[in-house]
Amino acid sequence: MDIRSLGRRAGSMEQVHRTVEAGHKIGAEMLSIAPGTPIDLDLSLQSVSEGVLVTGTVSGDTTGQCARCLDPITGTVNVYLTELFAYPGSETEATTDEEEIYRIAGDLIDLEQAINDVVGLELPLVPLCREDCPGLCPDCGIRLAVAEAGHHHDKIDPRWAKLADKLGPGDEDSK
Ligand SMILES: [Zn+2]
Ligand SMILES: [Zn+2]
Repeated sequence: MDIRSLGRRAGSMEQVHRTVEAGHKIGAEMLSIAPGTPIDLDLSLQSVSEGVLVTGTVSGDTTGQCARCLDPITGTVNVYLTELFAYPGSETEATTDEEEIYRIAGDLIDLEQAINDVVGLELPLVPLCREDCPGLCPDCGIRLAVAEAGHHHDKIDPRWAKLADKLGPGDEDSK
């Protein structure tokens, strides 16, 4: 997901409108932009003394699973990116860590890590198919959204189960 950097003339600007493909899964574990999904870039590149400032929007379709009921979910993520990519040999490159400030490699700006970071922050860690998703029955695993109303399991304490066997059915009424 590389875009060509600008010349080093401070102040020059360039608009980038492009659709790229996600090389890897972008986002979080339960919800992400899948590899091969088109990602729309609407960015402005501005050459500054220490590097290239990239600002603008990144959007793409997401797929994943509801964290409660595991139903597939789809959506769209639209994030605003504003990141400085430091020139090789610049003072910024020399005085910062690679994890703090992204680098320009040769004359290419690799957006993938920056997009991954910003999309990862935007997407929910616990995505839901709907806000009030009732999830799964803890006993049988059925999706409660499709189970009959009031779905539950009668549970007998194991200590009483043997006694219930001895008494047999119907005996609890004959007091
Ligand atoms: Zn759900
Ligand atoms: Zn159940």
